[in-house]
Amino acid sequence: MEPGAPVASPFPRRKSRMGVVVWGDHRVTLGGSAPVRVQSMTNTDTADAVATAIQVKELAQAGSELVRITVNNDDAAKAVPYIREQLDRMGIAVPLIGDFHYNGHRLLTDYPDMAQALSKYRINPGNVGRGEKKDRQFAQMVEAALRWNKHIRIGVNWGSLDQDLLASMMDDNARRAQPWDAKQVMYEALITSALQSAAQAEKMGMKPEDIVLSCKVSGVQDLIAVYQELHRRCDYPLHLGLTEAGMGTKGTVASTAALSVLLQQGIGDTIRVSLTPQPGEPRTQEVVVAMEILQALGLRSFVPSVTACPGCGRTTSTTFQELAKQIDDFLRASMPQWRERYPGVENLKVAVMGCIVNGPGESKHADIGISLPGTGEAPAAPVFIDGEKRMTLRGESIATEFQQIVENYIHQKYGASA
Ligand code: SF4
Repeated sequence: MEPGAPVASPFPRRKSRMGVVVWGDHRVTLGGSAPVRVQSMTNTDTADAVATAIQVKELAQAGSELVRITVNNDDAAKAVPYIREQLDRMGIAVPLIGDFHYNGHRLLTDYPDMAQALSKYRINPGNVGRGEKKDRQFAQMVEAALRWNKHIRIGVNWGSLDQDLLASMMDDNARRAQPWDAKQVMYEALITSALQSAAQAEKMGMKPEDIVLSCKVSGVQDLIAVYQELHRRCDYPLHLGLTEAGMGTKGTVASTAALSVLLQQGIGDTIRVSLTPQPGEPRTQEVVVAMEILQALGLRSFVPSVTACPGCGRTTSTTFQELAKQIDDFLRASMPQWRERYPGVENLKVAVMGCIVNGPGESKHADIGISLPGTGEAPAAPVFIDGEKRMTLRGESIATEFQQIVENYIHQKYGASA
């Protein structure tokens, strides 16, 4: 690259078509030049309309732009319109996606209020029936989407792959002069299942931009391989997710690794992080991780970021860890009110550093930074605002004073544009 030449954007343009998922006046664009969207899924019993509406609200307030709920039986189907009604009453306009397996064709036919209250249907082609029932039952679900003007996601999963398709592809493979290995056949079956189903839906009249595809697997390298190929072969918006990612650090790291590689290549229009919640962990954690992935990649900004050093032997106190956490918690907790009051606040950068080695330098790169005293340093904490040292805090109330400084800065910088 020549000196001075602009650095190329690290993100290739996504080639998918843009669709719009709607609830009332609320529109969520998907694919094309739309931002990569964050999705999540409830784990309440959908038949419990109150508990489900509360969890959907929590997920939406945490930042989920679409929320999926399972619609697995008659009681769940009956509850969906009430869930929608309660959300509307609470002012939560997030679109609801119904997740259907085995009996979706019947539920969508028998419960028109439910079919209407949802904004999108997830159809798993591996679970719509076998033999001659398969095409008929799949068609029934697509007909419902056409009747009510809804989006669909054709969501293939290797845990429930269409067994007839897989068997026939295995047979074809056995007849090859040089058979592929079983994994290649599996990849091909996942992709073929999604593309054939999408073609069938289009033949029935679905607009291609109203169809999202996903092919979820639980291995990082498998997911990357499948989506790269799927992306090469179609321009439907793609929903990414590492299925059954697992718990805690393992689930978070595996999802981040897989999704980051694909997103960096311009693959993926909506994402979900399928974390198994640890005991006591809120369901909203999967939304937090999804947003962090997009923010860390520089694809979107959701909350102000706090840069904090890891600490080392130069700082023996935990003061800076506590301050970093306090500021991070404060910023996150304030975001639901700040989003409207302070447009752009999600781009704020705060640094909380442990000593003089990198503290002042890192603080100058942030909008606001504080460099706490390390072991043996004078008990003073310089504060940097917009790259300039503005004041020095001392004493017991450094944390409270710094928080107040951050709040004042936000008010001055972002309050005017409200
Ligand atoms: S900034 Fe100071 S305390 Fe923090 S990791 Fe670096 S040397 Fe250690």
